[in-house]
Amino acid sequence: MFKLIDLPYAQYALEPVISSRTLEFHYGKHLQAYVDNLNKLLPGSGLDELPLEEIVAKSSGALFNNAGQVLNHELYFTQFAAPTGALPAPTGNLKAQIEKQWGRVDAFKAEFEAKGTGLFGSGWVWLQADAAGELSIGQYVGADNPVAHGFKPILTFDVWEHAYYLDYQNRRAAHLQALWQIVDWEVVEDRYTK
Ligand code: MN
Repeated sequence: MFKLIDLPYAQYALEPVISSRTLEFHYGKHLQAYVDNLNKLLPGSGLDELPLEEIVAKSSGALFNNAGQVLNHELYFTQFAAPTGALPAPTGNLKAQIEKQWGRVDAFKAEFEAKGTGLFGSGWVWLQADAAGELSIGQYVGADNPVAHGFKPILTFDVWEHAYYLDYQNRRAAHLQALWQIVDWEVVEDRYTK
C-alpha cells in the first residue's frame, strides 16, 4: 500500500508562487486520487511488492498512469521550499555540469521554461541525467517520466493545468518562470549526485 507523502513544508509556505488553495487541490485531491487508484490497481498485477520506480519502469496502461503520476508528484512536491526573496541557485556538481553544458544557469532555465511552455496538453518537463551524468531536458506527456526511459529524474515542473490554473489561469509561462523562486536546489543536487 502506498501512502500520500508528507509535504516538507506547510500548505501556505510556497505562497505567493503556489497558493495554499492550489496545494489543497493539487496535493490533497489530485495526488491523493493517484495514490488511491494505484492501490486499487496493484493487487493481482504481479508488481505489488516492488518499489515505486520499478512499478513505473515495468507497468503499462492505467497502472503506469497512476504509478507514474505518484512518482512524478512525489518528486515535484519534495523539491520546493518557501521563497526567501533571494533567488535560489544551483550549487556544487550540478551547477558545474549545467554550466558545462549550457554555459550559464540562465540559459538552462530559459530552455527548461520554453520546453515546459511548449509541451502540448498535459505533462511534465524534466531535467534528467544519463548513467554518465550528462544532463538533458525531456518533455513527457501525461504520466510519462524519465524513469520509464532509463534516465535519473532530477528536477521537474508540472505543466498539467491543475498545477497552476487556480493561481495563473492560462498563463503557464508565467507560472513556470515563478517556480524558480521556490526550487530547493539542495534536494535537486542530492538527486543528481546520489
Ligand atoms: Mn499535477
